Amino acid sequence: MEWQLRKEIVEVGREVHARGLVAASDGNISARLGRDRVLITPSGISLGRLRPADMVVIDHSGRKLTGDNKQSSEYRLHLAVYAERADVSAIVHAHPPIANGFTFAGQPLEACVVPEVVATLGNIPTTEYATPSTQEGADVIRPWIREHDAVMLQRHGSVTVGKTVRDAYSKLEKLEHTAQVLLVARQLGHVQPLSPDEVAKLAGLRESLGIGPGADVYRSCDRSRRSE
Ligand SMILES: [Zn+2]
Repeated sequence: MEWQLRKEIVEVGREVHARGLVAASDGNISARLGRDRVLITPSGISLGRLRPADMVVIDHSGRKLTGDNKQSSEYRLHLAVYAERADVSAIVHAHPPIANGFTFAGQPLEACVVPEVVATLGNIPTTEYATPSTQEGADVIRPWIREHDAVMLQRHGSVTVGKTVRDAYSKLEKLEHTAQVLLVARQLGHVQPLSPDEVAKLAGLRESLGIGPGADVYRSCDRSRRSE
């Protein structure tokens, strides 16, 4: 089981790096090992060059239990997410350039524009800014990750979560793809968010497919519409 998880992290790490969703040794991936242990990528090694033995096991306070390397400097972020979400078994943190560009420009990604994203991810909120790799940098995600599987950390990067490493990764791909679509749409003209009626239908679809609560999506699309 643990070896399988290590191999899955190696595979996903290569894809994250190959797709340009991180640069150099940025980004980190983790998976829950039982109730209070977490398998996490090491600091200072590119996600594109990881080997299964490079991973580190830490406990819920961030103490290293096994592994030759130092755990990722962003381990506090991972622990904050696991503490908030008992249903989450894996986390991918990356620096996707287009989605990141939106947060650097102070532009929200959460405006509800892309129907399939509204129905699946809900929307993609952006946290307050906080210094990366600090406890403060980890705590800014808490209120957002409770209701969302994909969150942008302002001027930093993405956090996507799931039942498996692959699941968390596919949400990262989706998030960056959404940012790319929005960027092109804005270059071509004015982008209209979906109407409240259409959002309500997608919220219903989301609920009937068992993806997540529809009310959350409706509420936050409404909020982002009013702030535009
Ligand atoms: Zn980072």
